[in-house]
Parts: sequence; C-alpha cells; structure tokens
Amino acid sequence: MVIIGGGLTAATAAETLRKEGWDGAITIVADEAETPYQRPPLSKGFLAGKEGEDALLPLPANWYPENNVTLRTGTAATALDPAAHTVTLADGTVLSYAKALIATGAAPRRIPFPGVELKGVYTFRTKADSVGLHALLEGGGKNVVMIGSGWIGMEIAATATELGNKVALMGLEEVPLSVAIGAQLGTVFTNRHKEAGVQFELPASAAEIQGSDGRVTSVLTTTGVTLPADIVIVAVGVVPNISLAKGAGLTINNGIEVDASLHTSAADVFAAGDVANAMHPVTGMHARSEHWANAIASGKVAAKSMLGKDAVLDDIPYFYTDQFDLGMEYSGFGALTKDAEVVIRGDLEKREFIAFWVLEGRVVAGMNVNIWDVQDAIKALISSGRSIDTAKLADLQTPLEAI
Ligand SMILES: Cc1cc2nc3c(=O)[nH]c(=O)nc-3n(C[C@H](O)[C@H](O)[C@H](O)COP(=O)(O)OP(=O)(O)OC[C@H]3O[C@@H](n4cnc5c(N)ncnc54)[C@H](O)[C@@H]3O)c2cc1C
Repeated sequence: MVIIGGGLTAATAAETLRKEGWDGAITIVADEAETPYQRPPLSKGFLAGKEGEDALLPLPANWYPENNVTLRTGTAATALDPAAHTVTLADGTVLSYAKALIATGAAPRRIPFPGVELKGVYTFRTKADSVGLHALLEGGGKNVVMIGSGWIGMEIAATATELGNKVALMGLEEVPLSVAIGAQLGTVFTNRHKEAGVQFELPASAAEIQGSDGRVTSVLTTTGVTLPADIVIVAVGVVPNISLAKGAGLTINNGIEVDASLHTSAADVFAAGDVANAMHPVTGMHARSEHWANAIASGKVAAKSMLGKDAVLDDIPYFYTDQFDLGMEYSGFGALTKDAEVVIRGDLEKREFIAFWVLEGRVVAGMNVNIWDVQDAIKALISSGRSIDTAKLADLQTPLEAI
C-alpha cells in the first residue's frame, strides 16, 4: 500500500489500513519534512502560540514505527504509472504498489498581483508558514494586510489582531464568507472583526503591492485606497495538487474525479482528501471538500476501498471555525443551500444561535454559533429528510429532537 501525501488524509488512511487488519507493507510518501500533521490549528491556536506541536499530530510520531509504517518524508512522488503499478520518487526510488492512494491535498492559489514577489508577502498553508508568521506577529504592532476574505483569511486576521497587530482585509464579496453562508450570517463574523478593530475594504482586490528596497510597504486596492503594510498575506483559496494524477492520465475535473468509494479512473489507484472530487450519494453531485472532517472520513473510506471492502463516502459534510470568541460548526450540503430559506433559532445579536437552511421543507444544512453539543441533532434532522415546520425549528422551547 503506497500513500502519497503527508496530511491528515494520509495519516487517517494508514491508521485505518492497520485497524482494518492489513498487515502488509504501508509506505507514506510526503514531500514536507514533517510527521503527517493537520492544519486547522495553524491559523488559530498554533499561530497564536497557545497550542504546541502536539495539537498538530493526528497520530504521535512513534505510531508509524510501532505500526510498521514506512514514512518517507521530505520526498515528493514525481510520477505514478498505473499500468506498471509503480510510483517514482524525487530521489529516483521506484516503489511498486498493489494499491496506491493519492492524498496530495491542495496548495494556495497564486495570483500574479504586481509586487507579489516583494519581501513580506506570504501565502499560508504549512506548519513552516505558521511558525514563520507567528514570529513576525507575536510582538504586535505590525500593519497586516490580508488579501482574501474566506475562512483562512478571516481566521488569520482574528489571530493577528489578538496578538496586537493592525489588520486590514480585502475581498471580492461585499460581505466576507457570504459565498459559504450568505450575507446575513457572514455579517455576524464581520461585525465581530470590526469590533476588534479589523478594517475592511470591500469589495476590493489588490491593484498593486508596493514596496521599497525590495520590501513591502503598502497595498493599493482596486478601489484606490492605500493600506500601509509590514506583512501581506494572500489567502485567495487553494488549488488541488493534481500534477501527479494528471501525469498518470487520471480523469481530472476540479481535482481528481472519484466515485463514492474513491476509485479514480485507473484501477488500484484511489484519491481522497482535498485533492479528490467525490460523487456524493445523497446529492448525486461531485463535490471537492476542503475540510478537516472530510480528510478523516475520506481517508477511512479510501483505506477500506483499498482493501476491497464495501465503503462509501456518504457522511454529511462538516467543518468548523474559531474567530475571536466565535466558535462555529457547520454540517450540511452547501450546494443545496443556494435557494434555501435561512431559519434562525436563537439570538443573532448575542451571537448564540443555530442557523438552518431549509429547502422545500427539509433541512439541508445547519450551523451552530457559540451553542454546543447540537451537531448530532442537526445531522439527524438533515439525514432524516423529513418535512419540518420552520416555526418549530426557530422556537427555542421546542427541542431539536422533537421537530
Ligand atoms: C491554515 C488552515 C486552517 C484550516 N482550518 C480548518 C478548519 O478550521 N476546519 C476545517 O474543517 N478545515 C480546515 N482546514 C482545511 C483542512 O486542513 C484540509 O481540508 C486538510 O488539510 C486536507 O487534508 P489532506 O491530507 O487532504 O491535504 P493536505 O493537508 O494538503 O496534505 C497533503 C500533503 O501532501 C503533500 N504532497 C503534495 N504533493 C505531493 C507529492 N507529489 N508527493 C508527496 N507529497 C505531496 C503536500 O505537501 C501536503 O503535505 C484548514 C486548512 C488550513 C491550511
């Protein structure tokens, strides 16, 4: 079993292979020189300096030798030959496989803004990025300009502000996060940032990143505003790492196209995690999820499929975020929320509520903010598919289980 990629998907797949009884060889090929790690703390507690390395490891470093899993870190896979069943590594090694899993994740999207090459301009994805940025932010007093108003941009903006820095943030939407959760709910997060002093330039992009002596000094927005900058972070989404799959001739369609059991178009080759565009049996649509829970769920399904067991990725998609004192969890089918009615249960002003997306009388997604232990009930409502009364859904006196 050869697993390519050193993230949460790869670690989960290796662990599942062992749990499911595979006692043959497992090799993980990872280009980063790190024990496989998970990324959510990188923009939150780890960046803030509140969490250490342990928070990053889904499995302790000694799990791999103890479970006879060979970790080839610091080595990229450069070619995969589905016909020959081989993977070639950057150091020239050729590994044979019975089954291969591509879990190469995603990389920050790079936009050639004028001045992007200046010192002080960063993208953000890896542990090294987080360690480096923490060192710059921890003393406070820096002007930080964030290009991008998605989850990662908003999380880093919150952490940088909490560390005593002045953050200005721009994005293409009038309301940050509105693509994912709509303008009404995006406003809840935006207002919290504003209260903490984050400056928003919306909708706007960077016309030019300006500098002197090779180092960034400011960013000129497309709306003509000049924002002083010691640090610029470009967080404008990610692109799946498909070059290996492309070279192997696999079907590519917004990532590596896979069926619900995570088979690619090549026999004995599977794909999971951020790189995989999987058919979801509930929606009947392909979706590429860039979230933590999907890395775990799809890593498990891929491992079972590699062992020839019946497994389907039919989990309800889930993700979470933490920004200042706002903690949020979301479950549901984002693709079905576009025309859905939003029903609020709780208090938007106090930022303690559950938002439900209801389509044709059925709950298709739910998001709890600063209310806890309700995810099971939200998922049960979604998976039941039953027709619900929205008045009861909004009524705090009616238990979720009774709706
Ligand atoms: C800063 C940050 C914060 C996040 N916070 C949240 C959150 O709060 N909630 C949430 O739900 N999700 C969050 N996510 C998303 C979540 O971390 C991803 O969905 C998850 O990392 C996907 O795991 P993966 O293993 O599929 O890919 P990755 O974590 O990207 O790992 C893939 C690995 O494969 C390596 N690789 C690529 N090509 C090759 C090759 N050819 N050979 C060898 N190795 C290769 C990559 O370098 C990388 O190390 C966050 C992501 C980031 C970056």
